[in-house]
Parts: sequence; structure tokens; C-alpha cells
Amino acid sequence: DIDHVYEALLNTSFDLDSLEPDSVLEEEWIKEIVKRSGMKFKWAKLTEDKVRENKDVERQPPPDPAVLVPRPPVVTIMGHVDHGKTTLLDSLRKSQVAAMDRLTFVLPFAVQLPSGERITFLDTPGHAAFSAMRARGTLVTDIVILVVAADDGVMKQTIESIQHAKKAKVPIIVAVNKCDKHEADPSRVKQELLGHDVVCEEFGGDVQAIHVSALKGDNLLELAEATVTLAEVLELKADPTGQVEGTIIESRTDKGKGPVSTVIVKRGTLRKGCTLVAGKAWAKVRFMFDENNQAVSEAGPSTAVEIVGWKELPSAGEEILEVVSEQRAREVVDWRCYVEEQEKLKEDMKAIEAKQQEHEESYKKERESMAHLSWKQRKSAMYRANKQRMAFRPSERVESQDLTLPVIVKGDVDGSVEAILNILDSYDADEQCQLNVVHFGVGDITENDLKLAETFSGTIYGFNVAANKSVQQIAAKKGIPLKLHRVIYKLIDDLKDELSSKLPPTL
Ligand code: GDP
Repeated sequence: DIDHVYEALLNTSFDLDSLEPDSVLEEEWIKEIVKRSGMKFKWAKLTEDKVRENKDVERQPPPDPAVLVPRPPVVTIMGHVDHGKTTLLDSLRKSQVAAMDRLTFVLPFAVQLPSGERITFLDTPGHAAFSAMRARGTLVTDIVILVVAADDGVMKQTIESIQHAKKAKVPIIVAVNKCDKHEADPSRVKQELLGHDVVCEEFGGDVQAIHVSALKGDNLLELAEATVTLAEVLELKADPTGQVEGTIIESRTDKGKGPVSTVIVKRGTLRKGCTLVAGKAWAKVRFMFDENNQAVSEAGPSTAVEIVGWKELPSAGEEILEVVSEQRAREVVDWRCYVEEQEKLKEDMKAIEAKQQEHEESYKKERESMAHLSWKQRKSAMYRANKQRMAFRPSERVESQDLTLPVIVKGDVDGSVEAILNILDSYDADEQCQLNVVHFGVGDITENDLKLAETFSGTIYGFNVAANKSVQQIAAKKGIPLKLHRVIYKLIDDLKDELSSKLPPTL
């Protein structure tokens, strides 16, 4: 029964894919379900109830200001292609600015100023990654360094970068690059930036612009210092205690380590042995590595580390949350999968409902448009419409073949045939199973009627008419259903029974 199917659907053990497409169309099943008990409403309600008993990770309250400690800024370098982003990152990595000397690979990386200040540079995000993270609310960037080549000026992607930063409310520092070049014109760059609401200090604004040469490594210390100065203004702080929160920057499968992800910690302190969930993936942190590929046992806010221990690879941009146990991690992931499936099913239901309505409206229109016709005209118009409908979509053809009841109607007088056809007409549109009147007429059942019935695998209905012995014998021999009635409503009941026997098996 319906509750059973409903329960099955709810537990999602009802596998739509397992239905054979040519036995009963999936769509028909769902249509049936939706139709039968207004379960759409039940459905939505139960989903809501379930969602209310949210099994996701509990959010911790905002940190107490007293426990906050300063944290390094996380910086993303953006700008037009070929303006020197990669070169700048490489130079920063290798430069004197960095206290550590083996900064050659893992990203993001930290740059430490002689004063001991640290900056975490992200070098993955292109614009797309930046927007994706912003959309998910998991943007980790505190500051954007906008690289503009002094020999080229503000270009298309420069403008896009500015827009991205502004939308995300992330402050900008301009690195006017390639200043070693002859044709470099830094003041033109700053002038052009004015047109995009980036007002540098010399124009009375608060945007710092540093003239650098990424290639030669000129002024990189100034750029780093400008970043630290801005970070101080931003008063970047975080709570290093409590449940860990962070963001996946990048995920990949490492030859030696297996599934690893680079993460930035936002809150709390990540430790070996922590259990984390990110989207529909979870991890028991087995190892952590810093940007020098050195194993570390702890990572505080604004620190980037590589994590080993994922059961499945999480996606970049996904939020990381710590949970108390592996069991809890599994529960959260299961719950998230459940919610996602529910959402999808709900969408499917909506689409099916819309389609159903569309169908019903077209039937209704059709009937209305035929109202003024005589019953004979109406029949032939219906044939035409049916044919068109069947030609419209191949899958619908299957549907109508499967769910069509071909009938031949014979009556004693025109009036009775018309009456029967009119009643059938009104059923036609409401029933799931489509009646197809292949022939109708006045008079006793003839061999010709039998031929038609045989050709269409149809049933013959006679009202107040007879069938002679030879006709009855042929019908019996060929297994052609021949039904003779003397009362109209009995004929109609009989037909309805046959119609419902053609419907999909009772759910
Ligand atoms: P990206 O597309 O923004 O990452 O740009 P790249 O870092 O790949 O640089 C593009 C080209 O500009 C390369 O040929 C670099 O060597 C060159 N380049 C980058 N920075 C400088 C610079 O400061 N001075 C000069 N002369 N060339 C640079």
C-alpha cells in the first residue's frame, strides 16, 4: 500500500533506477504515488520534521573576546594573466623575506618577516575558486594582493579581481609589478585604478600600492610589510581553543600519502587524532605536514597544513568541522547524504507534478475545444490528437502502448452508441489508462469487428446487440474478449474494471 511505498521512499531503499524502463515508466510510478494520497504534503512535512532533528555538527557560539589571540593574515594573489602572479609567489617563497629556506613546494606557504610576523599566502585560487569559496561562505582570504603589470596597466582580469575582492569585502594591496622594465609606468596604473574605485594613498585613498619587480625580487620586503600593516589594522584574531573549524583549500591523491587535503585552520587548534568532517567526507587525522613537508602535531588559526587520514577526498572550498568521535563523523556524513537525497527527491516530485498538470491542462483544453463538435467529429478529432500526442515523445508512446485499452463499441442505435462514447470520453482524461476507441458503430457484432479487435488486441463491447454463433465461436477460438450488455452502467462498470486491471500493479 501507499504507506509502505512511502516508507520505502523515505528510507530511500526504493531504487528508481532498478525499475525496468519498459515495464512501467518510473514517472508513472511517481505520478501514481503523488496522486494517490496527496503524499507530496506528507512528504514535505516529514522531511521538515526530520530536518528539524538536525544531526549535523552543532555550531559553537561566537568566541569570547577575552580568549582571542592575534593570527597571521591569509593572502590571495590575484590579477590579470601574465602580470606576474606566479613569479611573485615564487620570489616570495625564495626571497630573503622568508625565514625558512626550503620553501619550495606545498601550498599555501607562510612567509615570515624578520620581525617574526607571519603571512600565509594562498596560491591556488583563480577567480573561480575565489568565487566558489565566497559563495559557500568559506572564503579564507583576509587580504588580496592585486598584481598589475606596470607596462600593461589595468586589464580585464584586473577589473574582475577588483570586483571579486569588493564583493567579498576583502581589502586590496596593489603590487605594481614589472617596475624593472623600461616601459613601466606605475603612476598610469594607479591612475587607471581610480576608475575602478581603487584609490591609492597618493590620491588620498587608503589602498597601499607597492612598486615591485617580482622577477628581480625588488621591494618584496616592502610588500610583505605593507601586508602586515594592513593586517594590524584589520585586527585579525581567532580563538585557538575549542572545536576546530577550517576550510579545504585543495584536495589531491598523493602517490605516497594517499588522499590528502590542504586546509587552513580558522578556529581552534588542529591536532593529530582529531576527527573532522568536510562536506560528505570525514577524516581521522593520522598525519599533518607543514609547507616544508615536515610532520607537525599542531596547527592553530591561519595555519595551512596537509592532512592525511581522509576516508574519501573532500572538495576544495568545503568547510571543515571537528566532531567528537568517528561514530559521530559517520552520523553527520550519513545525515548530510540523506538531506541531499531528500532535496533531490523533492525536486523530482515538483517536476513530475508540473508535468502532470501540463498534461491535464492539455487534455482539458482538448475536451473544451471539442465541446461544440458532433460526437462523430469529436471522435475523429480525438484520434488525431491522440496520434499527435503519441508522436510527440517516444517515451510517451511506450507509455500509451502499455496503458492503452483498445475497445470496439457497438450499439443498437446511434443514440446509445453516442451515450456510451460520451461517458467514456469523460473517463478518458481522468484515468491513468488511456481508452482507445478503435471502432464504433450500430448493429450486431460482425466478423469485421472481430478482425479489428484482433488487430488492436482490443475488447468488443456491445450494447443491446447480438453476436451470432459463428462470431461467438471465432471470438472464443482467438481469445477475443466479447462483452455484451443490456444495461449501460453495467457495460461502463465492466469497462472501468478492465481499465484498472491495466494500471500498474497496486503499490
Ligand atoms: P601570471 O600569469 O600572472 O602568473 O604571470 P607570470 O608570473 O607567469 O609572468 C608572466 C611573464 O612575466 C613571465 O615571462 C615572467 O617572467 C614575466 N615577469 C613577471 N614578473 C616580472 C617582473 O617583475 N619583471 C619582468 N621584467 N618580467 C616579469
